[in-house]
Amino acid sequence: MTTESFETFEELGLNEDILKAVLEMGFTKPSPIQAQGIPAVMQGSDVIGQAQTGTGKTAAFGIPVLERIDVSSNAVQALILCPTRELAVQVSEELGRLAKYMRGVRIEAIYGGDSIDRQIRSLKKGVHIVVGTPGRVMDHMERKTLKFNEVRMMVLDEADEMLDMGFREDIESILADMPEDRQTILFSATMSKPIMSITKRFLNDPVLIKVVRNELTNQNIEQVYFEVKPQAKVEVMTRLIDMHHIKSLLVFCNTKRKVDEIVEDLQLRGYASEGIHGDLRQQQRSNVMSKFKAGVTTILVATDVAARGIDVSGLDGVINYDIPMDEEYYVHRIGRTGRAGMSGKAFSLVARDEKYRLKSIEGYTKVKIEKGVIPSYEDIVGVRKARFVETIAALIKDSEDEGLYADVLEMLHHSGFTTEQIVGAMAKQIMGVQKNEYADGNLAWEERRGDRREGSVDRYAKTDRREGGSRFERGGERRDGGSRFGGDRGGDRFGKGERREGGRDAGGERRPSAPEAGMTRLFLSLGRKDHIMPKDIVGAIAGEANIPGKTIGAIDIYDKFTFVDVPERDARAVLRAMDGNTIKGKPVQIDIAK
Ligand code: ADP
Ligand code: MG
Repeated sequence: MTTESFETFEELGLNEDILKAVLEMGFTKPSPIQAQGIPAVMQGSDVIGQAQTGTGKTAAFGIPVLERIDVSSNAVQALILCPTRELAVQVSEELGRLAKYMRGVRIEAIYGGDSIDRQIRSLKKGVHIVVGTPGRVMDHMERKTLKFNEVRMMVLDEADEMLDMGFREDIESILADMPEDRQTILFSATMSKPIMSITKRFLNDPVLIKVVRNELTNQNIEQVYFEVKPQAKVEVMTRLIDMHHIKSLLVFCNTKRKVDEIVEDLQLRGYASEGIHGDLRQQQRSNVMSKFKAGVTTILVATDVAARGIDVSGLDGVINYDIPMDEEYYVHRIGRTGRAGMSGKAFSLVARDEKYRLKSIEGYTKVKIEKGVIPSYEDIVGVRKARFVETIAALIKDSEDEGLYADVLEMLHHSGFTTEQIVGAMAKQIMGVQKNEYADGNLAWEERRGDRREGSVDRYAKTDRREGGSRFERGGERRDGGSRFGGDRGGDRFGKGERREGGRDAGGERRPSAPEAGMTRLFLSLGRKDHIMPKDIVGAIAGEANIPGKTIGAIDIYDKFTFVDVPERDARAVLRAMDGNTIKGKPVQIDIAK
């Protein structure tokens, strides 16, 4: 069997009404899967179509389906199965647009979670095309509220996703119940064994159309990779999000478990993120999706398979938390950003043992993925400061409730603080930039000879990667889950910016800078090698010298010693109480730092 390909929709010989709608929808020429798929389906053959997300598969089967509907009959003539409610709705809407100038074509989406009685009432009025999820379609078949004895076309859309979601049995029993002489069309992004076995059993001498390699080089997508240690991937991810001000992001990883881990880690850091994977019930999925679409959540973390069941477009970026096992997956992933003339970013976090996969992706897509430099801590502070200033300026400009908060400043002045101190403290809290266990030096893996490809170009080379990260390291503390500047949603910021444990701030002050006014810097003879943590130091000093823990300032733990700032007036008391004393059972010498 041959497959022809056409340059224009006119050449495809479509009926006038559909042609008019297609042009109105802004489709100037058929996409490759449409150019090959539409004629094949119109010929009446069974068809297997393999093409990535976003290549126009809906119209590839939708146009021929509409062409074959006989509106003078009231019977269901086409059944389209989709993996999720979202996709079912999306497909039925696209069909509705294509059928805009056709008279009397009735299309109904049926899916779980919607009232079955309402669906039954609408089905009773007569429907020509049913777009449904397998579970709900089975329901209606069992209740005999859907009759398929006149179905001529059966479409399995996103077949691999449906199988991964556990619909195999449903699909098989639906297929087994369809009239023998129907036409069967299957679309899938990948061809797995279970799919092949379905096609063998239920498709009749199918035409195979495979469009995977074109459109790989979407010029709007900026593809950059970063060499990152596996344990530093979330940190690097948040830096990239901050640096590039990414407000809608899809993060891909290879396993469900990773989805949960990443989501938790991001949430702990104050980023509004949620996960999507096959284990979610339809209702949970819709919840997650509507929050994402409303911008309440800004980051979705998903596995490849789960991501295909959702309809998201117009993303600022895609991050490959890990590198997919399959080159095609890479293409699908990054295809989620940079659509419809918008620009998008595709960042890949590459561990050393993933580098070879990145190379094979480059070989497959014939696109060079450039190497990026991880933004440094200072870069992040810089962008956050700039955005902070912007936001505050905007707030001041359109502030309607002046007066209401004016006395706050007065109250703080009254407590003896200067305006500079007050603003500084507020900025620190609101921006939420805090140092954690990741210093700049321990994010990337060290290149060995042979790791580096010839001619790699460093992108975003704003600052050099830094060595000797231990200087900035902060004894393994985590940020609190408080407010972030990055999330950019005014309201939640002021609420919960609790201070970290022990009440110290961690504004990134480095040694050897002078302590803040009114503070004395002390030297302690214990350090990281003694496994002490800031909370141990705060506990010991506060307990032994009987001063409030929250008055203790910056703590910098080095390998063999530690600097800690305490209020000037308490310095003597701390020295007296601590010298020769122990912290975590270890004797400590303490002195005023020089
Ligand atoms: P897929 O099912 O392959 O993921 P869709 O059918 O959902 O892709 O199509 C993705 C988007 O591209 C939709 O917004 C659709 O309206 C649009 N589209 C489809 N075909 C064309 C075309 N020939 N020209 C321009 N846009 C198209
Ligand atoms: Mg689709």
